[in-house]
Amino acid sequence: MSRSAPNIIITGTPGVGKTSHCEQLAERTGLKHISVNQVVKEKECHEGWDEEFQSWIVDEDKLLDAIEDEVKRGGCIIDWHACDLFPKSWIDLVVVLRVDTETLYDRLTERKYPEVKMQENIDSEIMEVLLQEARDAYDEEIVVELQSNTAEQLDTNLDRIEAWIGQWKENNGVST
Ligand code: ADP
Repeated sequence: MSRSAPNIIITGTPGVGKTSHCEQLAERTGLKHISVNQVVKEKECHEGWDEEFQSWIVDEDKLLDAIEDEVKRGGCIIDWHACDLFPKSWIDLVVVLRVDTETLYDRLTERKYPEVKMQENIDSEIMEVLLQEARDAYDEEIVVELQSNTAEQLDTNLDRIEAWIGQWKENNGVST
C-alpha cells in the first residue's frame, strides 16, 4: 500500500530526547506523534507492571494490532525505546538518537529512575544497543544516527528530518 507521507521511528535509550524530537517534529510537519508508551497504557497492550524496572511489560502483538491501521496509512512518527518489532514494510526512516553518558546520567537522575533501571540504560547507551538493533532490523540506508546532547543539536536534527520528509514526498510524487 502506498503512503501519502513517510513513517519514521525515533528511537534510542530512555532520556535521549525521543519525545522532545517527536513532539516538535509533529508540530512542524503535521505528521502524527505515536507515543508507544501512551498506547501501551491506554490500550492495555501489556502483561502487567514490572516493579523493579518501573515499567510495563509490553505485549508486542497487541501493540502492533493497536497501531497497524494508523501506521499503514502513513505519516506517523513512532516514539519508542525499541524498534525491531515494527515490520520493515511499515517503516521509511529510523532515527537513532544518541547522547553522552554524563548527560544521560543527569537526565535520568532528574527523572528519579531506580538504580537498576538507571544502570541498565546507561550500559545500553554505552553499548550502542539501540543502534545495533536498528541496523540489524532495517536496511542500512534508512538508519540514521543523530546526537541529542544540546538544544542546538535538537534543532539541527529537526531541520534534517524535515528536509528528509520533503525529499521523500518529492521522490514518491506527493505534492506538499
Ligand atoms: P525520551 O523521550 O527519549 O525519554 P525526552 O524527550 O523525554 O527523552 O527528554 C529527556 C529530557 O532531556 C527532557 O528533560 C528534555 O527536555 C531533555 N532533552 C532531550 N533532548 C535534548 C537535547 N537535544 N538538548 C537538551 N535537552 C534535551
